[in-house]
Amino acid sequence: MKIELSRTAKNWQAKARAYADEYLQPHEVEAELNQGVLAEGVAERNKKRAVELGFSAIDVPKKYGGLELPMVEQVAIWEQMGRVTNALSWCFSEPQSWMFEACSKEQIDDYVLPMMRGERKDCYAITESGPGSDVAALEATAERDGDDYLLNGEKWYVTSANLADYFWFQARLPDEDDEALFLVDMSTPGIEMIANPLFSHTYAAHHPTYRFENVRVPASKRVGKPGDGMAYTHSWFRHERLMIGARCCGAAARLIEEATEFAANRIVGGEPLSEKQAIQFMLADCATELWAARLMTYEAAQASDRGENLKAVHNRCSMVKLYVSEAANRIADRAVQIFGGRGYMRENVAERFFRELRVDRIWEGTSEIQRLIIARNLLKRGLDDM
Ligand SMILES: Cc1cc2nc3c(=O)[nH]c(=O)nc-3n(C[C@H](O)[C@H](O)[C@H](O)COP(=O)(O)OP(=O)(O)OC[C@H]3O[C@@H](n4cnc5c(N)ncnc54)[C@H](O)[C@@H]3O)c2cc1C
Repeated sequence: MKIELSRTAKNWQAKARAYADEYLQPHEVEAELNQGVLAEGVAERNKKRAVELGFSAIDVPKKYGGLELPMVEQVAIWEQMGRVTNALSWCFSEPQSWMFEACSKEQIDDYVLPMMRGERKDCYAITESGPGSDVAALEATAERDGDDYLLNGEKWYVTSANLADYFWFQARLPDEDDEALFLVDMSTPGIEMIANPLFSHTYAAHHPTYRFENVRVPASKRVGKPGDGMAYTHSWFRHERLMIGARCCGAAARLIEEATEFAANRIVGGEPLSEKQAIQFMLADCATELWAARLMTYEAAQASDRGENLKAVHNRCSMVKLYVSEAANRIADRAVQIFGGRGYMRENVAERFFRELRVDRIWEGTSEIQRLIIARNLLKRGLDDM
């Protein structure tokens, strides 16, 4: 099942596949059985190699020493990383291009570029307990106090915060009737981790809850200019939703390959399981849905590379997130069924993906929220402009 890609995209795809196969995949079961944590030095080695290969610089503008790859090539890379369970591909941080538009020179030097070099790690704090999916109703505040801001609020599910050294913190500005993003060092007084719940997957990156109480940050830590509001968080959503699509395509491909191989070798009633039509139908549905998922994901990336209207691109990223995450979950469910009892063992890739892919229907906006975005686009802009 091939998507027509340029020579450079194929090269990146091959590089990412080799990295995923050689550096990440062999450590999946070890991670699963050790709360996501690998033997000493392995994650550091994997990060170093990822940075050497350029993966942390793919969305960084060339003028900042990055590779500035087209979205299609970035998707080709993240699709291959998506083949690996236990979020082992999160061993390196990756700045996104909007950060270079949003941030001051000082912020780029102190926070964004060190991520590209593998020296710093970020986490993104938007979600709160009350507003939940309704990110326009955030309650955390940033109040001006002389040359500083005082940040207050509680942020839930802050992915990777246990490994990160700074937050992107989204808050309301009561004095300006606006919203803004702040860069906040983890060590700033007034920040407290108040819960660190366990989740279905087994990742080294946790999703703790943080309380911010009168956290004082200089005004220079505010990102962007007055009026920017949630614009950069929307840029973050677009990027993440597209890359969730890419990773789900990779996961689905791996699941289909492994389930097909198992079905061809498992003898049931004197013949391979793959001879049973019930199994063939499941595999056929998986392959067909993956084909649709890949076409959508790559076309949305191409639309972004063509510089199409931002609202249309935003809408398509929502469609990709909705369709591809839901399809990947159906594919994981069928893969578990094909493996039978073996598919329920934690050492089996289908079992791990069955748990891991579930959250792709929840984070970065649930499937219901993506449907709301898509429906609003349809009603406002019409089918031709979506
Ligand atoms: C493992 C994990 C990691 C996460 N990482 C991060 C992170 O790093 N940073 C961060 O900021 N957030 C993070 N999140 C939060 C995630 O984005 C939210 O969980 C998600 O947006 C849903 O919000 P909620 O959990 O409050 O659900 P709720 O908003 O309470 O929704 C509950 C249910 O109601 C539905 N619903 C809500 N509103 C509507 C509506 N208007 N119409 C129809 N249905 C609706 C939802 O779709 C859902 O099914 C993470 C979550 C998880 C589980």
